[in-house]
Amino acid sequence: MSLPVVAIVGRPNVGKSTIFNRLAGERIAIVEDKPGITRDRIYSSCEWNGRQFHLIDTGGVEFGEKNEIIEHIRKQAELAIDEADVILFVTDGRQGVTPTDEEIAHWLYRSNKPVILMVNKIDDVKHIENAYEFYQLGFEQVIPVSSIHGTGTGDMLDAVVSLFPEQTDVQYDEDTIRVSLIGRPNVGKSSLVNAILGEERVIVSPTAGTTRDAVDTPFQYDGQSFVLIDTAGIRKRGKVYESVEKYSVIRALRAIERSDVCLIVIDGERGIAEQDKRIAGYAHEAGRAAVFIVNKWDAVEKNEKTMDQFRQKIRDSFQFMHYAPILFVSAKTGKRIQRILPKVEEVAEQHAMRVPTSVLNQVIQDAMVTTPPPSEKGRRFRVQYITQVAVKPPTMVLFVNDPDIAHFSYLRYLENQLRQAFPFHGTPLKIKLRKKV
Ligand code: GDP
Ligand code: GDP
Repeated sequence: MSLPVVAIVGRPNVGKSTIFNRLAGERIAIVEDKPGITRDRIYSSCEWNGRQFHLIDTGGVEFGEKNEIIEHIRKQAELAIDEADVILFVTDGRQGVTPTDEEIAHWLYRSNKPVILMVNKIDDVKHIENAYEFYQLGFEQVIPVSSIHGTGTGDMLDAVVSLFPEQTDVQYDEDTIRVSLIGRPNVGKSSLVNAILGEERVIVSPTAGTTRDAVDTPFQYDGQSFVLIDTAGIRKRGKVYESVEKYSVIRALRAIERSDVCLIVIDGERGIAEQDKRIAGYAHEAGRAAVFIVNKWDAVEKNEKTMDQFRQKIRDSFQFMHYAPILFVSAKTGKRIQRILPKVEEVAEQHAMRVPTSVLNQVIQDAMVTTPPPSEKGRRFRVQYITQVAVKPPTMVLFVNDPDIAHFSYLRYLENQLRQAFPFHGTPLKIKLRKKV
């Protein structure tokens, strides 16, 4: 299921980043100490009254330096219109309506997307009437807010949430493997889609699964049902922001949420970029199974060491995803394309694996005997009991004497022991701690 997306648009200096940080800031709690995960600041997951959604600050998307400011804003609006379920149009209540606001209103109006007009910088109730003139922009919901003080944000969020669409995602069979290709622009995602679907043993279903914002491609391979998520989005071309790197993260977000397995496509010719880590990090955090696909291997000048060196680079750059297998392919020549789907099947199986409690406990008891937990403040961490509570990804609950003295490195050790005992290839493991009562 993909979460609704709310995009913030508006001209510079109206307070877009301030409201973004206020809405996002309270919610981003990075408790896990996972090295290598960088956070993209232009989007955030938020929650209001139990409804979760993604918030995008389109002002954070850079379209290159040559653009006129108005052209820049137009592209941001276009991005918002295409990607968002609800648009939060931010204006400055101290300045009043400006010609640029009118222009933005025009673009938004034509899009038929629901818009909340936020009149910002109303720091004092005395100035609330400043908001009235904004009704002339033609939107029904005009809400005075002070991003700095936080007043009005609750009313604004109520309005935003009330406009979320009904969930219209197509449902697929439990056994169908939902797979997506994610990666930066130009790494070869569309070429890979074509190469995979063009394989002899792949039988593409005549009916595509259509959702509110994506076209999926169901197909069969060796008696197994798959669906390629959001292929239309990958193939869609010609939008001005298509080539914007940060945009690819937003696009990836939705695909990841709807997938079981994410194929993280890396350009073998250009190498690994920061943006690859962001995209991969999101798949990891979302608990999806993952395979690294190093594409364009045909174009790489190589000797017998090149592949191992590249493999090592991936391991170093994506330390948090040490579990994900790596394939070196070429969409252009078709080299090793036939290995992709069997690998997807394998990791999907591991992702859905359930291990009996008795076996898990045996592994953990043995692990604690081999390497006893360190003591902290004179107390020794102990695991009393382990059980698997969920699949996709496999999720373990450890009942322990005291969660507060659990050491990150010791939990990492236990995870590694579990991975040695069971073939959790290609899947993250979630480990939760509970205090034993
Ligand atoms: P952006 O360019 O639209 O992202 O705008 P910023 O978030 O960077 O804000 C521009 C300026 O407006 C900054 O100096 C903010 O401190 C200020 N600002 C933002 N929200 C408010 C508000 O609610 N009240 C007041 N008085 N100033 C604000
Ligand atoms: P996307 O933006 O990730 O969907 O990337 P495309 O599939 O549009 O590919 C971007 C460019 O890389 C195009 O010019 C492709 O022809 C080229 N390309 C894709 N796959 C390969 C490959 O395996 N080898 C080579 N040499 N070029 C490729």
